[in-house]
This record gives sequence, C-alpha cells and structure tokens, in this order.
Amino acid sequence: MSYSWQPKPAMISRSGWNAASPSGCSGSNSKQYIIVHHSGDQNDALAIHFGTNEKGFMKRIQEIHMNSNRWCDIGYNFGIGVVGSILEGRNLNVLGAHAVGYNSNAIGICVHGNYDIRSFTLAQENSLVDLLAWLCYTYNISTANILGHRDVSSTACPGAGIYSKLSSIRSKVLQKLSPQSISVHVFNDDTGNFEVSNLALNSPMPYVLNSTLTVREFKGNSNSSVIWTHKRFIQAWNTLRSGWGRGIHVPIAFNRIWEGGHGYQDQHYAGVAIDCGQNLSNTEREQLRSLASSLGVFEYVEPASTAPTWVHIDKRLRPSACSAGYILVRNGSKNTCVFVLQDALNTLGYTGGGLDGAFGNGTETAVRNFQRAYNLTVDGIVGCQTWTMLTQLVRGMGKTPTTVNP
Ligand SMILES: [Zn+2]
Ligand SMILES: [Zn+2]
Repeated sequence: MSYSWQPKPAMISRSGWNAASPSGCSGSNSKQYIIVHHSGDQNDALAIHFGTNEKGFMKRIQEIHMNSNRWCDIGYNFGIGVVGSILEGRNLNVLGAHAVGYNSNAIGICVHGNYDIRSFTLAQENSLVDLLAWLCYTYNISTANILGHRDVSSTACPGAGIYSKLSSIRSKVLQKLSPQSISVHVFNDDTGNFEVSNLALNSPMPYVLNSTLTVREFKGNSNSSVIWTHKRFIQAWNTLRSGWGRGIHVPIAFNRIWEGGHGYQDQHYAGVAIDCGQNLSNTEREQLRSLASSLGVFEYVEPASTAPTWVHIDKRLRPSACSAGYILVRNGSKNTCVFVLQDALNTLGYTGGGLDGAFGNGTETAVRNFQRAYNLTVDGIVGCQTWTMLTQLVRGMGKTPTTVNP
C-alpha cells in the first residue's frame, strides 16, 4: 500500500499519566490488525468516577490489569480518554493483552467509558481517526483490518456507540491515507495534443521549472478534480518567475466556469490565468506588472486600475470571438476553450461531448442542440453569439447532476 504520510498525533506519554513500569512483558506483536475496545464497565462507573481526569482513568486501568489480572502492563497499546486525548499504553513490540487470539498480531486501542451507555463524541472520534491513520501508515496496515473487539470474540465491546461508527471511521482513515490526486490536462502547443497526468496536490505542474508552481497552487480555490492549462502558459510562468527571482504567492488561478468568481468569458476558466502577488506592497505589485509586460510572454497583464490588490496575468488564445474572451471553436478545435465549452454544455444538460478539450461530433451535436433551444443560428460553430449566451447562463451556477468530473 502506498499511503500518504501521516503525522504522529499528539499523545499523553506513559510518564504523563504516571504509568508504572512494565514488569516482565515478553513476546512480539506483528501489528497486522487494530482492535478497538471500550473499557465498558457495567454502569460506566469508572468513567463517571474519573470524569475528565483521563490520566487517572488510564492509571486505574493499568492498576486493574497489573494488580488484579497479574499482567505485565496495561493490556492496551493506546487509550482514548473521555475528552478525546490519546494516551500511550503498552509497548507495541511486545505481546499484547486485549483480545484472545489477536494478542500477537493486533494493536489494541481502548476508548475510556461504556459506549452502550454513553455517546462517543466527535472529539474522541477525530482522535481515533488520527491515531488509526498514523498506525496504518506506520505499520502498513489495511483499513479493512481495523476491527471492533466483537468482530473477533463474543463480547459487546466496544459498545454500540462506537461499533456502529466503525465503518465510517474506516472510510475516514482511508481518505486520510489516500493521496488526493488531480487529473491534469496540459495542451502541448508544440504537438497539438493534450497530455494527461494524475498528480498529487504537492507535485509541481507539468513543464514548470524548479517546482515554482504546484498543482495545489494552480488549482487555487477550485474544488475541481480536473484542471487544464496550456504548456505555453506554464512556460510564460517560468519566464516570469525566473525574472522575478523569488517566490510569487499564487492563491487564485484555475476555476470551472460553473464555480464562477471571474468574468463571463474569463481566462481563469480556460486555465491560462493566474491572480498572484496579493501579499506584496502596491509598489512591488507594480514592479511585477511591469516585469510581466516587459517580458512579453503574456497576452494580457491587467492594470492596477482594475485589479489593484493582485496581479492578473494571462495567456489567452487570440483572436477573441467577441471583443474580448474566448476564441471561436468548431469541430476539430482542440484547446482549453473547448474544455470551457464542454464544461458549460454538460452543466446545462447538453451532454455527449465529454470533457476532454477536443471538439468532435458529440460536442458539435450538443452545440447544435443548445443553439436550437436558445434560438441562435444553428451552425454548430461557437462564435461570439453562442459564447455570450452560454457563459451568461452557466457562469457561477454551481455544478449540476450532468456536470462531468466535478
Ligand atoms: Zn474489548
Ligand atoms: Zn484574474
């Protein structure tokens, strides 16, 4: 399993809860499973007695295990307190004492209290999820091997309140462990084709030099699982970034047209615009604008009069079909304006063209159906009239059930 890195959650160490030293522990633990328990005394009496004193509760469990049961240490490897603290228990490398048949191959976690009686709080659940994610990552344990005690033994443990949440807890753990990847479509202007890669958020964008622009930065505030851009835009970024010579803060770049946030036929939706430099002074921003203009690699650098607190740079395709905005596209066109077109048509319910930036017969049919429905010239060609109608309808409307790859 190639899990993404998980931090060790904060926890109260053994000395933090004044644990007695273990006495005579032995054997080993292969850590293939994780078993979730509750302390579960009959009337929740211990939890009531200790209240929010999680350390005292942990110490009391150890006393019972060592003094009454005559075990070498507390039986569990971890505790989760009633407030949600994680407490360190028995050494993970020796035989455990928490589930018959699983003490040599399972990590034991005990949630303090009786969860047939009390309710399992969100704070406790969050701590449990963090602990499980870290353990699964560290010991390469499958989330399917996170079990409740009752899965392996005839017992009510870990109580209905916890057991009923275990499957959603497993999903949450898996979500943390699975690296989020974004489908990145880059139009290679040199070959005339899109190149597609699935990249982690912290990967650099394709063609970017020296990791100066990550997928996360280019995705900006978009929630999309798919992003698109042109190689020439990234190359223009490289030129600007190396001319500037230091980091440029990029909080806003890509957006889907239905997410909105920009103008109607905006280049951010076409994946060829960045709004950067929000953390600079007015003087520095003006320096960045002049640099971007003088380098001559962008099609448009917005002046401070209309974008005073950020620097908008874009590499729009020309010529615009209207006085500004997207280019005319038709059957055979391949570029990120076609992505915007397909995205808008899909979202409005004119599906069949897919979402790949390539204007084929399916896209043409969708365009004709759209044109017919809105009394436009039905020619299957997307020029000023069709772009204007389409973008006015779909900009900022939110995703719909027919949106592809939201
Ligand atoms: Zn148990
Ligand atoms: Zn902008």
